[in-house]
Amino acid sequence: WRQRSELEKMADLPQELDDELTKLDKEFWISGSKLKDIVKYFRKELEEGLSKDKQNIPMNITWVHSLPSGKEKGTILTLDLGGTNLRVCKVTLHGDEAAGTRKHTLEQEQYTLPQSLKTGEADSLWTFVAEKVEDFVKSKGLDQEYSSDKPMPVGFTFSYPATQGRIDHAILQTWTKGFDIKGVEGEDVAQQLRKHLEARELPVELICVINDTVGAMVASAYTDPETIIGGIFGTGCNAAYMAHTSAIKKLDANDQRITDASRHNGTAAGDEKMAINCEYGAFDNAHRILPRTKFDEQIDTESPRPGEQTFEKLSAGLYLGEIFRLVLVDLLDRGLVFPSSQTQNTTALKQPYSIDTGLLSQIEDDESPSLTQTRNLLSDILSLQPTDADIELCRRLAEIIAVRGARLCACGVAAICLNEGIQAGHVAADGSVANKHPKFKKRWASALGEVLEWRGEVDPITITSAEDGSGVGCAIIGAMELERRGMVRD
Ligand code: BGC
Ligand code: MG
Repeated sequence: WRQRSELEKMADLPQELDDELTKLDKEFWISGSKLKDIVKYFRKELEEGLSKDKQNIPMNITWVHSLPSGKEKGTILTLDLGGTNLRVCKVTLHGDEAAGTRKHTLEQEQYTLPQSLKTGEADSLWTFVAEKVEDFVKSKGLDQEYSSDKPMPVGFTFSYPATQGRIDHAILQTWTKGFDIKGVEGEDVAQQLRKHLEARELPVELICVINDTVGAMVASAYTDPETIIGGIFGTGCNAAYMAHTSAIKKLDANDQRITDASRHNGTAAGDEKMAINCEYGAFDNAHRILPRTKFDEQIDTESPRPGEQTFEKLSAGLYLGEIFRLVLVDLLDRGLVFPSSQTQNTTALKQPYSIDTGLLSQIEDDESPSLTQTRNLLSDILSLQPTDADIELCRRLAEIIAVRGARLCACGVAAICLNEGIQAGHVAADGSVANKHPKFKKRWASALGEVLEWRGEVDPITITSAEDGSGVGCAIIGAMELERRGMVRD
């Protein structure tokens, strides 16, 4: 073990706390050779998911047959059911009309998802969604523009694992990211939503359900042809890519829809593709390779779906703040941090999920000379009175946890690239961790380079900021689907 922190030491830690930190650093550090071992297992699980149904990593078939040409046109209503918001957009794609520039226009509204919905009943969820769609449709006058004979096409970004027998069906496999709504798992979410939209007699027609990773990939490919993967490094973590249909053993190669789509897209025989939503947050649910600390085990046990999403629970935004909190609580319980000689109120710290991953980013972002920002955050958000040693501990801990997350995130992408023989291109990334954490991209790139053994000056595979997947990406997929059905509407 060596001193790995990039941070300049700001305060001395008491010996006991210093020893603790060394221990934590060892437990959370994943070496380059360990990353390679993880990727080996990862590749195998991705393969298994392509070969057979019901494997640990599902490798979901999406019925998105190609990346966009950039000529896609039309107006689509898109819905994005995220972890915190429901976003409704009216997206108009202009195709390549405007002299070579691929353009779109977008109007949107965001509605905060009430916390109670996330652990409630299916009916309350869909009632909420349909009500907001109705508000949106009426406030934009779309009910005047469209009719039941000529309904407005709707695309739905549903960022959970779903089995899709076709693009407008999606059977939820399991809730992830802390959602626990009864009556949806094993059911077709498209059908549930459709029923609620119909009850309101809205002139809309749900035509596709997509995953956020596929949306990110497609939206980004619309403007950046070097896009190879769409990745979400946010509340959850996952990626999508275009697989050769011949590599998807579980897919019926003679499926007429594949033949039709390739004829429609002008794809040469043998070169057919299909977007795969990996759902690799489930990697290593059998606990064969990922090093888990007691804090990770605790997060899993206390989550609504213990034993699921093992990889996600070590690396995604929903959990990084919680891991940080659990370590602090452990140190607090052992009298090592936040001494009671100061007036301490530990109620907030003891509250599960009280620490948002954004706090870790803010701590890592702190460049104020005596770390006033960190001190203020700890007192404002958690009502704590930190000593200098506490602050030093917190910033080192934020670093340790975020570094592990970023290094793990590189493993999923490395495994896809190795399996597919992808040597260069852009990983279009979205999500709060990728876009808001100041050091994520650098750490991710360095880990990817260690696994793929890059030697040169320039990284052949780079992470880019994805275009709006759940709005524009979803609309493009909707437009491609309509076109494929031969019923283009403007
Ligand atoms: C979900 C995926 C999603 C990812 C990122 C995971 O928890 O299962 O469907 O793509 O989060 O939002
Ligand atoms: Mg989202």
